[in-house]
Amino acid sequence: RLYNEVQDLKGNIRVYCRIRPFLPGQSKKHTTIEYIGENGELVIMNPSKGKDSRRMFKFNKVFHPTSTQEEVFMDTQPLIRSVLDGYNVCIFAYGQTGSGKTYTMSGPSVSSKEDWGVNYRALNDLFQISQSRKSSIAYEVGVQMVEIYNEQVRDLLSSDGPQKRYPSIFFPLCTTQPNGLAVPDASMHSVQSTSDVLEFMHIGLMNRAVGATALNERSSRSHSVLTVHVRGMDLETNAVLRGSLHLVDLAGSERVDRSEATGDRLREAQHINKSLSALGDVIFALAQKSSHVPYRNSKLTQVLQSSLGGQAKTLMFVQLNPDTDSYSETISTLKFAERVS
Ligand code: ADP
Ligand code: MG
Repeated sequence: RLYNEVQDLKGNIRVYCRIRPFLPGQSKKHTTIEYIGENGELVIMNPSKGKDSRRMFKFNKVFHPTSTQEEVFMDTQPLIRSVLDGYNVCIFAYGQTGSGKTYTMSGPSVSSKEDWGVNYRALNDLFQISQSRKSSIAYEVGVQMVEIYNEQVRDLLSSDGPQKRYPSIFFPLCTTQPNGLAVPDASMHSVQSTSDVLEFMHIGLMNRAVGATALNERSSRSHSVLTVHVRGMDLETNAVLRGSLHLVDLAGSERVDRSEATGDRLREAQHINKSLSALGDVIFALAQKSSHVPYRNSKLTQVLQSSLGGQAKTLMFVQLNPDTDSYSETISTLKFAERVS
């Protein structure tokens, strides 16, 4: 049943909307969220402009502010299984800073399993399923983690990074990987268990923070991409299958006021703008079944190329902040989603 669900995806692009709850201290009275339907309908409204400002959007699914990490993952799980069946999968979170992208992808903390976001749950599943198949298929799993900042790709697991408590393992997949599948120039590390992955992700996060005034500040202006490569060998026939999973926490999509931003800020904003619109263009082209897909227009789309288009399956979480102050950003986020879904 799960398998069919994945097969049935229209154009292999699925778009989920997740609305984060009001945070403690935020006034709950002023929300732009007017209605959430059972079948992915979302109606938003600007309370100060009244009913005429109502707009309806349609997603594959809309998650309520009260939805748990587990509920969100239940609708993501079929994609994880397909990675082990040899598909390339890309899951990313899009939205303004503070809308819950990191919450969805990583979660608020690693210590409590309940809090785990999509990436930890996905890896946990990958290892569990591969274990359950081990009498027929031998799986190898490798991870890469990079940050894309100002159109530069930075390896977050590099063995000469500030954090390098791990042995530098050369993962055999690297050499046999068909062109374009692995992130070029980023180290790949063999992992055997979820706790191995947790450790690498921790190292990656520490390395990411280096050089930034605050991790949050840096993370809102760069894209982080965790790539998981899977190679499975059928023990009977020796046939080899390969799958990959890209887990992407995108830079904040908020528009920066041109009159206020200068220097570094302006440059960052321009790079983010360029890469997010390039991503939008690629997904739009794929959704339209266009013969030309403009992958080359940004580092982000180059890095993700193998898991966007073709047989690959793409899932986008569109993250919304419910408060009225965010109304115009919410509209622009929803317009991005509307174009690609
Ligand atoms: P982003 O990564 O888009 O900038 P964050 O994931 O950091 O946003 O979320 C901003 C704040 O909102 C954080 O304090 C986070 O813990 C909280 N938050 C986001 N989504 C949820 C949610 N679904 N439930 C509870 N708190 C959330
Ligand atoms: Mg974040």
